[in-house]
Amino acid sequence: MPSAAMQREQDILALWDQAAGRPRRLRDDALFAAAGATPTASIGAGNAALLALRTRLFGAAWRLRAACPACRTDCEFTADSAALAAGLAPAASAAPPRIANGSGEVALRLPTLSDLEHLAAAPDSATATEWLLARCLGGMPSPAPDPETLARIEAELERCDPGAVVAFALDCPDCGHGWQAVIDIAPALWAEVQAAAERSLLEVDALAREYGWSEAEVLALPQARRAAYLQLSGAS
Ligand SMILES: [Zn+2]
Repeated sequence: MPSAAMQREQDILALWDQAAGRPRRLRDDALFAAAGATPTASIGAGNAALLALRTRLFGAAWRLRAACPACRTDCEFTADSAALAAGLAPAASAAPPRIANGSGEVALRLPTLSDLEHLAAAPDSATATEWLLARCLGGMPSPAPDPETLARIEAELERCDPGAVVAFALDCPDCGHGWQAVIDIAPALWAEVQAAAERSLLEVDALAREYGWSEAEVLALPQARRAAYLQLSGAS
């Protein structure tokens, strides 16, 4: 029976196998699938699932960075991915209302992960927004919504699925500027998976060269012993 740490390393490497070198959309799909998020999940529920996966693989302390928009200083901060995940999934009752449009009204539904997939092919963000709107309104309504109606639609989507956008209130330590740093969960998680997988591969490489052990043999070593052998071989 592998230890919890070994199991996590195996899971990280399996995820890396599925997603490394893939275009962003396929990589995101692999992450959402590994997190157990179905294509019909709302964006907030998808983000919550990714953060729960992140917490299981790396622990709750989540080190992040964002560039200050005023002075470009790279600001590091730490979030709690477990606590964050708990607050992201929309309430089951959060169904968007019908919205007045022209002389009639339109029914709105929350965007899902599968909607995001379809947007990946959009040539620019304006087209992507238009496509998303058409999908969530069941086709582009006639007349097309005016800016005021669009703003109401946007506000309702935000109210009903607040976890769709994850942002942190930051103050720049350098210039004091305060802003909301938006963190895109899937690429942030992928960066961690990639870094951890590459670390494992480097360790396997070093010990395989030094002792002639197979990949499976190196991965089966308890963490402390692997670290000790890496030190002995001068690789760390
Ligand atoms: Zn700054």
